[in-house]
Amino acid sequence: MLPVTTEALRASFVNASRREVTDMSLPDLDTVAWEDLTFLGWRDRKTARRAYAVVPTLDGDLVGLLFRQAEASPRSRAQCSWCQDVTLPNDVVFYSAKRSGPSGRKGDTVGTLVCQDFQCSRNVRRTPPPAYEGHDAAAARLRRMEDLQLRVAAFAADV
Ligand SMILES: [Zn+2]
Repeated sequence: MLPVTTEALRASFVNASRREVTDMSLPDLDTVAWEDLTFLGWRDRKTARRAYAVVPTLDGDLVGLLFRQAEASPRSRAQCSWCQDVTLPNDVVFYSAKRSGPSGRKGDTVGTLVCQDFQCSRNVRRTPPPAYEGHDAAAARLRRMEDLQLRVAAFAADV
């Protein structure tokens, strides 16, 4: 994704109150390897179980999402619904996002199973082992990157 400024990042949130946006702990944007990311996701350093993702839409806009991690852990070997990595090196947790607008104010949420620290961008960029002779690993990697982009954008549009 393209680099994002602190101002643009804070302004992108669609399901957070002004107070929540002010209070959120931000990652150090100067050290982010933007070219390796499909979206930017991080956990709040100060508030347990709170996390954020800033997702580029297919139109080039940014959608910032505030998540709460559910108390319960998913059953073992859950799959991340964004990267759908089959050799997951990390835990997957259940995150819920308040919907934007009036339905969110009434308490409507949308939930998803996602890599605990949003490792999805890294997971899809690993070169997959060749599935068979003549398998194009580079093409498979590109396809996984595109699929991740479509899935996170679709989720952001749904919030
Ligand atoms: Zn993932």
